[in-house]
Parts: sequence; C-alpha cells; structure tokens
Amino acid sequence: MGSEGAEGAADSPTDPPAVELDGVTKRYGDTAAVDDVSFQVREGEFFTLVGPSGCGKTTTLRLIAGFEEPSSGTVRFFGDSVAGVPPEDRDVGVVFQNYALFPHMTVGENVGYGLNFADPPEGATRDERVAELLELVDLPDAADRDPESLSGGQRQRVAMARALAPGPDLLLLDEPMSALDAQLRERLRVQVRRIQSELGITTVYVTHDQEEALAISDRVAVMRDGRPEQVAPPRTVYREPSSRFVAEFVGDNNAFAGRVTAIEDASGSAVAAVDVDGEVLRVAVDKANNVAPGDRLTFCVRPEYLRIGAGDSRLTATVESAEFLGETTRVTLDWGGRDLVVRTRDPLSGEIVVGFDPEDAHVIGVSGE
Ligand code: ATP
Repeated sequence: MGSEGAEGAADSPTDPPAVELDGVTKRYGDTAAVDDVSFQVREGEFFTLVGPSGCGKTTTLRLIAGFEEPSSGTVRFFGDSVAGVPPEDRDVGVVFQNYALFPHMTVGENVGYGLNFADPPEGATRDERVAELLELVDLPDAADRDPESLSGGQRQRVAMARALAPGPDLLLLDEPMSALDAQLRERLRVQVRRIQSELGITTVYVTHDQEEALAISDRVAVMRDGRPEQVAPPRTVYREPSSRFVAEFVGDNNAFAGRVTAIEDASGSAVAAVDVDGEVLRVAVDKANNVAPGDRLTFCVRPEYLRIGAGDSRLTATVESAEFLGETTRVTLDWGGRDLVVRTRDPLSGEIVVGFDPEDAHVIGVSGE
C-alpha cells in the first residue's frame, strides 16, 4: 500500500490513461469550482483527490462520473472524449458518502440492483454475480439480510458490491468512510484497498482526510482552490511537498522562512546557512537550484526529524502543550512566538533544545527578492 509508483497498474507507458482531465474547468456563476485541471489516472491505479473543504474534489469526481459537464476542457476515458456521454453509459461504479442502500430490499437485492441496467460480466447468472460480489466484500452470508441490520462499514461494503456488480471499468468513491468512526474507517480502508487490488480496477477516491489518502493510494492529488497543487505518490507528497500548502496540509510540519547568508559546498551537495529571525539554521539544498546568498528560502522539517537535544542546527524552545497519542506524544513548542511541533516518547516540559540535520530539512521555495 502507498507504493512509490503505480505498482499494480497494468498499462505500459504508451497506453492511453484510463482517465484524463485536460484543461478542465467547471464554473458555477463566478466561481470556478474546478479551475483548469489536468491530470491522468493510469489503468489499475488507486488515485486520490484530497484537500480541504470546498477545494473542488467532489466536483472533479462528478465531472468524471458524468453528473456534470465541464464548462471548458475535455475528460477522456482511454483516450476518447466522454463529452455528452451520460453517467449510465460511462461504465463507472459510484459510491457516495451516505451509502444510500434501498431499505425495502435485502442486501442481495441491493447488490443485484446494479445488474438491472447491465448484464453480469463473463456470462455469470445474476445470483452467481451477487454471491461473488458479497464474497469479495467479505459478507458472504448477508444476501438475505435487511440493510438496516448492518453496521455502517458493512453497508458501505454492500454499496461497493452494488457499484461493482456490472463490472465497471472505473470505480469512483466520494468520501465513502466519512460517516464512520475512526477505528471502522481504518479497517474499511484496508478492505477497500484489498478489493481494489484484487479486481485491479482503476479507482478515483475523494477524501478530506490526508492520512487516509496517504494510506490507501498509489498516487495523490492534493487540491487547493479548484486545482491540484501536487500530484505524486504518497511518500513523495509527504517527504517532498512541492509547496508550503502541501507541506502543512499533509501531516504535521514545521515551516521556516529566512534569508540565505552563505552557501557551504559539501561533497556532492550544498548546505545553505539561513537566517531565520536571527538564528542561523543549516539546510541541504539542491545544487541545481543555484541558491545564492541573499535569496529567501522556505523550508520545512517534519516533527519526527526534530530531535530533542541533538541535531546540527539547534533551537531553544518552550513546551506549550502535549497530546498523548499512545505510541507517541505530540508536543507543541513555542520558539520565539512561533509554534513548532515535535513527536516524542518521553515527557517534556519547560525549556528544551530541539535540532535537525541539514538533510532532514526539505526546501519548498526559493525566491530571489
Ligand atoms: P467538500 O469536502 O466540502 O465536499 P469539495 O472539495 O468536494 O468540498 P466541491 O463540492 O467540489 O468541493 O465544491 C467546490 C466549490 O464549488 C465550492 O466553493 C462549492 O461551494 C462550489 N460548488 C459546488 N457545487 C456547486 C453548485 N452546484 N452550485 C454552485 N456552487 C457549487
């Protein structure tokens, strides 16, 4: 899970992407809910749209499903435009947040409902297909049950089985777990990923939960104001965020900005000395970026890389608050009026020294002014 590339994706580089958005904009009056968006989803990939409320995730998904048409730009499936193709002819299975099972039908009838509009794939009978799908979602004995008698997580799995019954090319999931409690969400996301991998079905998933996005996806698009700010595998988004927004949205982070005072040329890489409010911090920089003294540098250090009483650059800060999270404690520090976050197993209080090594800082912006 969370592999570096789209492992599990079955295509070769020359195959057209399963889904492509090419300069897609969707306007509602003066608001561009989706603003000139381009990205590609490979066949078999688990691709997640993540971002804060109102950033355009659901609208993007609805444009792919065909519930909305773009104001401009093109949506393509396997290289062909789907402009004007209604949702029922797009071969997509959709699961929404509020599982919306039919209460007057049994679980089996709910799953079978998906087959009212399309024959079961590969010559299976309707009953065989329903049984196969219930097996897949780990509810083999639930066919005769009443949806009301199921837990929220089980209902969502039935909704997935219903969406998958006709054998769609593409599975679209819009916040399918947001109504569930945290523990159930964690379990369900493992199941969703297993089902997706077993079928090898191209999946576009929408969530506002960055942890869920990192855990479940081959690649993630971090959206802001109607656009993806970064599209990359989870590890890259976490370790090498392309902007301060991504750095701060995806997991805890400590962002710093300051003026470069000197460049030290170490073997193979360079280290910038950066003056952040009078404190000189040392940060590894890519030589290709030609960072020079006088430049303004923004960089971040993840909490797990801020070490207590160690590290090349050190800061003296005061403990403000601590949240016990079980495995670790998340401690907020005050450093000259700004918050820093550090994770530790040991209780901390009062004034402490935290530090980091140059290579544990990640540069997110350089400007010449
Ligand atoms: P959330 O996580 O809160 O569901 P989101 O990222 O899915 O948010 P969208 O629902 O895609 O965001 O909405 C993006 C923007 O477009 C918002 O500003 C929203 O108010 C606006 N919007 C979405 N649908 C419509 C509509 N039918 N009419 C007018 N404005 C809309």
